[in-house]
Amino acid sequence: MKVLIWNEHRHEQLNEEVAKIYPKGIHGAIKSFLETDDIEVETATLDEPNHGITDERLAETDVVVWWGHLAHGEVADEIVEKVYQRVLEGMGLIVLHSGHFSKVFKKLMGTGCDLKWREADDTERLWVIDPTHPIAEGIGEYIEIEKEEMYGEHFDIPVPDELIFVSWFTGGEVFRSGCTYRRGHGKVFYFRPGHESYPTYHQKDVQRVIQNAVRWAKPTAREFSSYGNAQPIEK
Ligand code: ZN
Repeated sequence: MKVLIWNEHRHEQLNEEVAKIYPKGIHGAIKSFLETDDIEVETATLDEPNHGITDERLAETDVVVWWGHLAHGEVADEIVEKVYQRVLEGMGLIVLHSGHFSKVFKKLMGTGCDLKWREADDTERLWVIDPTHPIAEGIGEYIEIEKEEMYGEHFDIPVPDELIFVSWFTGGEVFRSGCTYRRGHGKVFYFRPGHESYPTYHQKDVQRVIQNAVRWAKPTAREFSSYGNAQPIEK
């Protein structure tokens, strides 16, 4: 199975504090816990040619993990279209944290994807709402993150196909933190935690959710559906 981690990789270069938390970039941190015997992981960043995303690379990718924040507007529309089309063909997509405002997530959702936010060291508790879901495997009743950015409802997304986590924050807000969607032949998972100034991706249970999500989002192995004018199967 092949996973491509796409990271904007700007905060790590602009802010020393972020670079200390993620010396190999957020993509490097995620790669370090996703790579296993059966998962091959590559990374790509915004400032590479084509943002590191080529047709050939996408064609052999099973799941893309997406982290972006400062520079959603700099992602070329033609690259967004390629990723979008690959999701419709069956490629999985895991959208993390501020990726809620990425062009590709907004295009897949068809809504504004806006939310409330606050950077004030809130504690976050992500409650498992669907204990039967494979993305929640190995997770207790909740995940507690000591300090995180707050995201609050209303989150302007379509009603999720499945809601796996709901977050509570010390400010009193709640948020739909783990949402799945089917789009075309592809599976999409939005996962909220991961503000760049906190060591969230070093936390084991957060890592476990992303590991589970990548396996869940792997394309279902089958021939692609045919469309258009069709001859009857029966004579
Ligand atoms: Zn953030």
